[in-house]
Amino acid sequence: MSLPQDTDVLIVGAGMAGVTTAWALRQVGIRSIVLEAQDRIGGRIQTSRKWKKIPCDMGAGWVSHPTINPLIEIARKKKIELSPSDLSKIAIHDYSNDEVDDLWGLYGTAYAGVKLEAESRRDQGKRDIGLSPVLPGVLDTMNLDPKTRRGIEFFIDTSITQAYAADQKDLSLYNWDDNYTELFLGLWIVPDGYIRFVEMLKKGLDIRTETVVCEIDRDEQGVFVKTRSYGEFRAPYAVVTVPHGVLAKGHIKFTPPLPPWKQEAIDRVRTGLSDKFWFHFPRKFWKSKRAVVGRADPEGKWSLWLNFEKYHDNEPVLLAFNRTRYAAKLEKMSDDAVVAEAMAVLRKEYGRRTPDPIAMQRSTWGTNEFSEGTITHLPPGASAEDYLTLGKPVGRLRFAGDSTCPEFNLQVIGAFWSGVREAERVTSDMLMSRRGPKSARV
Ligand SMILES: Cc1cc2nc3c(=O)[nH]c(=O)nc-3n(C[C@H](O)[C@H](O)[C@H](O)COP(=O)(O)OP(=O)(O)OC[C@H]3O[C@@H](n4cnc5c(N)ncnc54)[C@H](O)[C@@H]3O)c2cc1C
Repeated sequence: MSLPQDTDVLIVGAGMAGVTTAWALRQVGIRSIVLEAQDRIGGRIQTSRKWKKIPCDMGAGWVSHPTINPLIEIARKKKIELSPSDLSKIAIHDYSNDEVDDLWGLYGTAYAGVKLEAESRRDQGKRDIGLSPVLPGVLDTMNLDPKTRRGIEFFIDTSITQAYAADQKDLSLYNWDDNYTELFLGLWIVPDGYIRFVEMLKKGLDIRTETVVCEIDRDEQGVFVKTRSYGEFRAPYAVVTVPHGVLAKGHIKFTPPLPPWKQEAIDRVRTGLSDKFWFHFPRKFWKSKRAVVGRADPEGKWSLWLNFEKYHDNEPVLLAFNRTRYAAKLEKMSDDAVVAEAMAVLRKEYGRRTPDPIAMQRSTWGTNEFSEGTITHLPPGASAEDYLTLGKPVGRLRFAGDSTCPEFNLQVIGAFWSGVREAERVTSDMLMSRRGPKSARV
């Protein structure tokens, strides 16, 4: 057991939010210690270097919002290569490119139909429900032939259920896209791995890995953070940046308990699940050069495949996504069984001669107790106000992380901004308390 250790600020979690908080505090000379449960930093940014020439991002893969994203400037200054990725360029197996391009317009019509239906229900004072059955009902009114309907369902799966890592029934009809920001303004891949950003920001910081925080006590003077194996740390402030899923599961005990307004918001928001599956093939068997080479599957299983050949010297690499219950089921299966499931689907589409992959690697965010899923969504009854509440301070306890940023809660940019926000709040509190009456001094 080590003795209690003193610093200005304790930061729980070394994902983008935690590392950014410490980095921003360091700029103004405030000391911090970052306590990270896992044996690596980055959290839901994790680059696997198992395949020597092909870094594989298991979590965040795209840099979004280029006009306002500070990571773009960091990449320029630190020479981190970015490569444009146009996810609006979609090929669907068995559909011509013209057919697919036409689906965009129909998808827009369906989206608008859902919004109108939501408005009408709201006006009638009806309670919030899930996107199902409203979305299928809207598609029914569009009188689509079966192939077109399957195509639109692929778009819905890719842009809504897969993107929010949640089934339609679990997404609030009124608020599911409260945080919607225009992703297609530009997306960038980091061919050398997203983790480069975290590695750049961590320089000079005191980060303790394999330090699992299990309890946080607070009083008017400060905060005591208890860890599983390295004793207790204390400081005037703590910034908690663990994922929403970890808070919702109650893995960290708060004494006194978090106030009801905070706990209720934690309980209303949900964390979903979406896993990534990287396949390295001996040769390319798909024809399209488009970024997405999907297949229209009614259940959304093995339907979203991204074409990564252009980022890695034309190596035949595909990245698949699976979500929710099916992803949870796959997490319990062996690698061989997962490959067999995927290959059965691919051979049905591309023929019996489709080669087995040389290798496959995948994420398992659902069974990781330090993520407890991937990203948050708003189920019926929740709203973006809840994300704001997740970020509100409780005395000297502060909260950062993607889910505390209502505008960008699904993205690294949200984690980054939340870290800057909390660093600024702590800095201004410390300045105020130094100027204020002695009793308020830290
Ligand atoms: C599969 C997937 C794909 C994604 N794709 C994109 C994308 O393309 N673009 C994008 O912008 N965003 C994407 N995201 C979202 C993005 O990864 C997150 O928004 C962002 O990384 C969150 O950062 P964070 O610091 O808030 O949380 P995290 O990265 O989860 O960091 C929290 C840290 O807390 C630690 N921790 C947890 N419990 C404890 C404890 N008890 N004690 C100490 N430490 C603890 C964790 O180990 C972790 O390191 C994706 C996420 C996933 C999972």
